[in-house]
Formats: sequence, C-alpha cells, structure tokens
Amino acid sequence: MQTYDVVIVGAGHGGAQVAIALRQRNFEGSILMIGAEPDLPYERPPLSKEYLAGEKPFDRILLRSPAFWKERQVNMLLGQTVTAVDPDDHAVATEHGEHIAYGSLIWAAGGHARRLGCDGHDLSGVHTVRTRADVDRMRTELDGVAQAVVIGGGYIGLEAAAILAKSGKAVVLLEALDRVLARVAGAPLSRFYEAAHRDHGVDIRLGTKVDCVLGDRNKVSGVRLADGEVVPAQMVIVGIGIVPAVGPLLSAGAIGDNGVRVDGLCRTSLPDVFAIGDCALHSNRFADGADIRVESVQNANDQASVVARVLTGSEVPYDAVPWFWSNQYDLKLQTVGLSTGHDAVVMRGDLALRSFSVIYLKHGRVIALDCVNAVKDYVQGRKLVEAGASVEPIRLADATIPLKDA
Ligand code: FAD
Repeated sequence: MQTYDVVIVGAGHGGAQVAIALRQRNFEGSILMIGAEPDLPYERPPLSKEYLAGEKPFDRILLRSPAFWKERQVNMLLGQTVTAVDPDDHAVATEHGEHIAYGSLIWAAGGHARRLGCDGHDLSGVHTVRTRADVDRMRTELDGVAQAVVIGGGYIGLEAAAILAKSGKAVVLLEALDRVLARVAGAPLSRFYEAAHRDHGVDIRLGTKVDCVLGDRNKVSGVRLADGEVVPAQMVIVGIGIVPAVGPLLSAGAIGDNGVRVDGLCRTSLPDVFAIGDCALHSNRFADGADIRVESVQNANDQASVVARVLTGSEVPYDAVPWFWSNQYDLKLQTVGLSTGHDAVVMRGDLALRSFSVIYLKHGRVIALDCVNAVKDYVQGRKLVEAGASVEPIRLADATIPLKDA
C-alpha cells in the first residue's frame, strides 16, 4: 500500500488551495490529491457564467497549470472516487480498489448537486451545474434549445438563466418560495434581481412548485407544475443546492450530518482527519457561532490555509469574514458577511442607476452588505462587518458619506 504524508480527497478549490499553501509554507512531505473528476483543479464559479456562455475555454479556468503541480510535487490521482476511510489504519480506499495510507487526511470533497425527486428527473436534457462535465453536456445541447426551464432561484439558477436569456433562449425560472435569493439575501435585493431578469425576458414564477418533468422518447419536453400547467422546454436546469459529499467519512465514524463537523482548526472527530470547504460544518462567528456550511470559494480557500498552517506548526483558528460574488448581465454583486437573522435593512445608493448596496444590521451592528456595482461600498463595508461596527442607519444610507467615514 502506498503511503503519503498528506492525502487530499477532492481536487477542487479547497483541495488545490491546501496543496498550494502547504508548499508555500515549505512543507516537504509527500502529497497526493485524489479527485473524482478527471480534470486538474479548476475554478467552479465560471461554470454558470463565462464557461457556460462559451466565453472562456477550459484551460483558462484551470486553477494552476499542469506544470505547477509537477514542479511542486503534488501527485494527482484523478477520475477516482474515495469510497471508504479506515481511521484505525489511516488509509482510504477508492472505487477502483486502490488502498492508500495517509499521515494526515484532508477531506475537501465539496458536494453533489441536489437532484429533483419527482418523476422525469433523470430524462435526457435535465441538467445540474456542478462540474465541467455537466456544463459540457449542456453546451452540446444548447443549439437545439429554444425554451428552457430553470428550477431554483438561487445564485446558480439565476446566473444560468441570465446566460441562456442573453443567448436568445426563452427562459422560465421556477422558484418555490415567494422571492428569489430568499435564503441568502434580503427582500430588496431579491426584488431588484427579479426585475432585472424580467427586463431581460426571463419569466420568473414565484411560489411555484414542480409536479414532474415530462418527456418524449426519454428526452425532456416540459415541466408540469403543481397546478397542472405544463411549461414546454427542451432543457431543464436544476439549481436547488447541494448534498455534501461526506458519506465515506460519516460511515467511518466522523461526527456530522448535513456536512462533517469540524472545530476551529478544521479537525474532524477522527484522528488526523481534517475537512474544509463546502462539506465542512463549522461554528461561524459571523453567524453568531451557529454551525453552518459556507459554500464559497473564500471559505474553501481560507479553511485550506488554516489546515496548511496546522500541518506546518501554526494553529490559527478559522475566523474569516465570508464573502461571495455573482455576475448576472451587467450586474456585479459582491456580498460580505452573512445577513441571516438581520433585524434592519438600510438601502444606500441608487437602484435606478443600478449601483447600490443593501446593508444588514442586527442589534444596531452591521452584519452584512450586498453591493451591486458598488465596489467601494464592498471594500469599505467589509471593515464594518469585520469590526461588528455600530453605525447610525441614517449615515449608512447617505451615499455622500464614504462607508469608511460612517
Ligand atoms: P469543490 O470545488 O466542489 O471540489 C470538490 C471536489 O471533490 C470535486 O471535484 C468532487 O468531484 C470531488 N469529490 C467529491 N467526492 C469525492 C470523493 N469521494 N473522492 C474523490 N473526490 C471527490 N462561489 C463563490 O464564492 N462565488 C461564485 O460566484 C460561485 N459560483 C459558483 C457557480 C457554480 C456553478 C458552482 C457549482 C459553485 C459556485 N460557487 C461560487 C461555489 C464554489 O465553487 C464552491 O464553494 C467551492 O468550489 C467549494 O470548494 P470545495 O473544495 O469545497 O469543493
């Protein structure tokens, strides 16, 4: 059985960053990264943006060149899924029967796109957007698509809807709740994005439940709604969240449920096993210490750095402010902090000019901002969130006062 000092499961954002950070910190041990996808680590955000639009080829979304990994002696085992972890033997097993021993194991396996549970969910033409392969499949079909249905009004669904609408498809977006982005943003931002999409011809249906996906000779032909209406479509894109990829770890006895539980140093309950990124359930200061998973590049990268530091002798707990971005049409959204639990909202800037910020407060303190085409607010507001600053709403709302002076 081969042995590596560090085995990383998952060759995505977190997995790549932990290997990069280890070498930056002069870690000299052997590293193996095992990835279920056949590709070297690549950026996932463009999958619902420039890559889906065909504006960026795959080699431009690679996180690092093939030479980079070779030079730094990061070994890759790609196209292989880890199916079991043996914490006593400090070893993992892959689906192809390989057994590999580790000194430390870093679980950076992200999540699988959640699928619909209704009839027709597996028809040809029904897609999720999680991997390069998902988007490559979609792109080969796009020429034959006039009408598309997007299920789910979160960031990924909205971004995909924007790309399809821009390329001339008739898009219907179905959201079960009464507004888009309901889980991540306040109502003013939701309403703004709903209007922006409608201006681009997207038919947004709120409070709408799906009954089933309809097909003709195994190919999707439409979506039947709970009220019986049939929306015709040659493509259905499902953006309803992820299921964290933690099965083998939980089977091995790691504590967790909706993700694997980690402490401030990203340690799981298993010895020498860490978890980072989308699959890591952690207590987050910016959520008042609640146990959450954060699905963002920032979180994956910052948790990767925490683990790289631990493995090179420096224990600095995870405490990074969450941030995220989303591009739709000409709208560049940057968010910082977590708005969950806010008790007041302040609008700053001009919605009509499409440059504004939504500022969220809790007990008088700034906890989050959603900044649309407002980079300065984002940069300066971030400091307010980090500091948990108390600022008078009237000063926050006054766009003539820079946030750094508020
Ligand atoms: P991933 O990057 O998903 O990597 C996990 C890897 O592990 C995958 O390659 C997976 O195949 C592999 N794997 C899973 N199970 C196993 C196993 N058992 N054995 C081996 N390998 C395994 N975030 C932002 O901040 N901004 C954005 O604009 C943004 N846009 C996004 C758009 C899309 C379409 C998607 C899908 C995500 C987006 N995100 C965005 C989220 C961001 O990409 C994720 O938060 C980030 O990729 C998480 O990194 P990770 O390392 O935890 O997981």
